[in-house]
Amino acid sequence: MTGVYLHVPFCAKKCPYCDFYSCGYTKSAADAYTEAVCRNLTALPQNLEVDTVYFGGGTPSLLSDAAVSRMLDAVAKRCHLYHPEITLEANPRTMTEEKLCGWKRAGINRLSVGIQSFQDEILTVLGRNHTAKQGMDAIFRAAAAGFENLSLDLMLGLSLHTEAMLEEEIRMAVSMPVTHISVYLLKIEDETPYALETPDLLDEDNMAERYLYLHDRLTEEGFLHYEISNFAKQGYESRHNCKYWRCEPYYGIGPAAHSCYQGKRFAVPRDLSAFCAHTLQPTELTDDNPCSAAERIMLGMRLSDGISLSDFPDCRETLLRHAKPLIPKYLRLEGERLMMIPEGWLLSNSVLVSLMRGIL
Ligand code: SF4
Repeated sequence: MTGVYLHVPFCAKKCPYCDFYSCGYTKSAADAYTEAVCRNLTALPQNLEVDTVYFGGGTPSLLSDAAVSRMLDAVAKRCHLYHPEITLEANPRTMTEEKLCGWKRAGINRLSVGIQSFQDEILTVLGRNHTAKQGMDAIFRAAAAGFENLSLDLMLGLSLHTEAMLEEEIRMAVSMPVTHISVYLLKIEDETPYALETPDLLDEDNMAERYLYLHDRLTEEGFLHYEISNFAKQGYESRHNCKYWRCEPYYGIGPAAHSCYQGKRFAVPRDLSAFCAHTLQPTELTDDNPCSAAERIMLGMRLSDGISLSDFPDCRETLLRHAKPLIPKYLRLEGERLMMIPEGWLLSNSVLVSLMRGIL
C-alpha cells in the first residue's frame, strides 16, 4: 500500500528554528496550490492502493476546510482508499470549531497539533504564535469535535527548560485527550534565525538524562516509545510515518515534498510558483536505488521493534557479530529481531556505525 503526502507550504509566521519550506498564506496562493495538487493527483496510477494520506507542512491548518475537502475528494477519485489514516498537521491558533467540523466532514481522522510546550516562557523563546492556553484549548476543542486520534508535538533542548518544567510538560501532555506524543530535540539548522542567534541549549549529558526520564515517565503513563522520537498508545502509532521507517512507498505532492515510489526517491523543488505554474510538478531524482540494506537497517533501527536479521541474509552474520558487544547496553536481541533500547537511540549514530562496519 502507498502513502500520499501533501506538503502544504504556508505558515502564518516563520519559527526561528525551522528550515521547512513555507511562505506566507494568501487566499489566491492557496487556491492555486489546491488546483495544482489536484492536477498532480491525476498523474498517479488509476486505482493506486492507498492507506494513508498526510497533510504536512508548513501549516496545513491554514487552508480552508473546503480546500482540504477538495484535495481529499481528488485523492479518493484517483486512488483506492483502504481504511485510510488521514492526518492533518494543525497549529492551535487555526483550530476553530468550524474548521474542525469541516475537516472531520472532509475525512480527516487524525490531527497532529504543534503544541511544542505547555509553558508560555518556552513558547516565547521558540517564537511560536500561540500561548499554552490556546494550545490546550485547541486540543480539547478537537476532542469535542470528535477527533479521537490526536497527536501533540513537544520540543525539548532549551537550557531554560528546567527539570521541574519538563515534569510539568509531561504532566500536562498525559492529561490531554491524546493518543500520540512526538518529542523533538531542538537542532540548530543552517540559515535559520537560530543559527545567527542561538539560544542556550542543554548540554549532551543533561539532554540524555531528560530523554531517558521522558521515556520512563511516558511509558509509565501507557505510551509506547515506538520510535526514537515518538510515543503512542497501543494501536495509535502513526501509520503514515511508519512507512518512512519501514521503507514502504509514499508519493509526495507539493513544493519540497519527497517521494519513495516505484523504486526511486525523488523530491519536488522548494518553489511554490514553479509548482503551481507546471501542469505536473517538476521533480529531481535524489536516489535511483533506495531501500538498500544499509538504509533499511538505519531506518528500521529507529523503531522499537527494530529489524529482523533474517531480512538481511547477505549480512546477517556480520550484523550479529557486530551486535553482540553492544548487547545489552544499547541493543536487544529477541530471536531474529534486533532492536535498540533508549540508551542506544541516544547514541544512535555511533551505535549504527559500529553495527554496520563492513556493510556501509
Ligand atoms: S515550525 Fe511549523 S509553523 Fe513554525 S515555521 Fe516551521 S512549519 Fe511553520
